[in-house]
Parts: sequence; C-alpha cells; structure tokens
Amino acid sequence: MADVQFTDVRKSFGAFPVIKGVDIEIADGEFVILVGPSGCGKSTLLRMLAGLENISGGEISIGGKVVNTLPPKERDIAMVFQNYALYPHMTVEQNMAFSLMLNKAPKEEADKRVKYAAGILGLDKLLERYPRQLSGGQRQRVAMGRAIVRDPKVFLFDEPLSNLDAKLRVAMRAEIKELHQRLKTTTVYVTHDQIEAMTMADKIVVMHDGVVEQIGSPLELYDRPANLFVAGFIGSPS
Ligand code: ADP
Ligand code: MG
Repeated sequence: MADVQFTDVRKSFGAFPVIKGVDIEIADGEFVILVGPSGCGKSTLLRMLAGLENISGGEISIGGKVVNTLPPKERDIAMVFQNYALYPHMTVEQNMAFSLMLNKAPKEEADKRVKYAAGILGLDKLLERYPRQLSGGQRQRVAMGRAIVRDPKVFLFDEPLSNLDAKLRVAMRAEIKELHQRLKTTTVYVTHDQIEAMTMADKIVVMHDGVVEQIGSPLELYDRPANLFVAGFIGSPS
C-alpha cells in the first residue's frame, strides 16, 4: 500500500483549473521530488497534501487513510517552507519546541526531541541563539529541526533551498539526503530545479501545466524521457 496516494486529484481557483487530474503513488520511505517550471502546480499539490488548500476533486490519502477534509494538524505530516518561517523572538530551542508545546507534549519529552534533532543537525551549540544571529544554512537547519521534532509520517519541502546561495544550496542538498538516509521518513519535495531533482530523488514526478508528464527514477527520465517536454526540461541547464 502506498504511503501517500494522489488519485485523479484536481484543483481549480474559481473557474481556472490548475491541477487537472493527477495520480501519484509514494511508497513508505521514498524520497519523491515534484519538479516542473514555475506555475505548473507543484506548490498547490503539496499544499493540498498538507491540508492548506482544499481539494476540488479526486482523493488524497496518507498511510491508507483518505485525508481530503482532514485539518492540517490531524495529518501526520510536517512541512518545511522556502522562507523558513522561524519565529524571530524565539531562540533556536524555542523555535523547535514550539509545536510540541502547542500539542501539549510533556516538557521532558519535548526537551528530548529537541536535543535529538539538534544533534542530528549540528545545532547543539546554537540552541540559545535567535534567528537573526544565524546564517542562512543554520536557519534552514532550524526549519528542518522543527519538522523533525514532530516525528511525522511524511516530510513536505517546498523549494527549501531557493533562498540560499549556489554553494550552500549544493551542501544542503547533501545534508537533506543524509538526513533522509538516517531517518527514512517518506518525503515529498518540490523544486523547479531539475538538477536538484536529478541528484536528490529516488523518484521524480515531472509536472507541466497541471498534469504529470512522467514519473520515474532519475536514470529512467534521463535514459527514456516520455516526451519532448520531459527531454527538454531535464536536459536544460539550470
Ligand atoms: P508552482 O508551485 O509550480 O510554481 P503553484 O502551485 O504555486 O505553481 O501555482 C499553480 C497555478 O495556480 C499558477 O497559475 C498560480 O498562479 C495559480 N494559483 C496558485 N495559488 C492561487 C490562488 N490562491 N488563487 C489563484 N490562483 C492561484
Ligand atoms: Mg511553488
């Protein structure tokens, strides 16, 4: 059974269809990247999975359970955004513990999880700092830490590296992959960068104008692109 499943998923804003019948199956532990040009519907698809956007048609399930109308906090997911969305007036430690506090986790348990995440991400020595005292890469790690402490079934990333400079972006790709190898949490990752997709994904979903053009491993897409759009997109310099 798929861990995450999109079945004939549709979305319109007013009369304007932006997701036009999408089917995707994601297995437990898989690292899947949704890739495609700006405006093709990647974020909308991810936001529907997160419950931040209503679904206009079809079905989305997580862990075998249909979540179409389930509120975001009842879905077993954690999302990492492009702009980090850290709380400026809270320390690194408080930023990471905040959602656990909201969910009334016992303080001891919250401390344990924050320590664990900080250890994995190399943030141990930065727990008392405020976001403004961190580098871009460190802020990105805190944003990931906030997702890790919740120990979700699925991680969602929306263009998490696009605010970083080129060198740091390459380093963070490797860090996110290592993190996945360590935690083995099912991951759905959105990017418009085909090189990021080709270097990070177990499985790539190529989107174009609200439809899926092809799903396959990086090697499959490289060797056997389904059509000219996929061939052109994968082959284009970033
Ligand atoms: P991507 O993430 O691939 O760049 P999006 O999912 O953000 O694309 O957007 C897909 C399409 O839906 C675009 O044409 C965008 O303008 C439109 N869109 C996204 N959000 C809204 C909204 N809240 N209201 C109206 N149109 C939207
Ligand atoms: Mg987007």
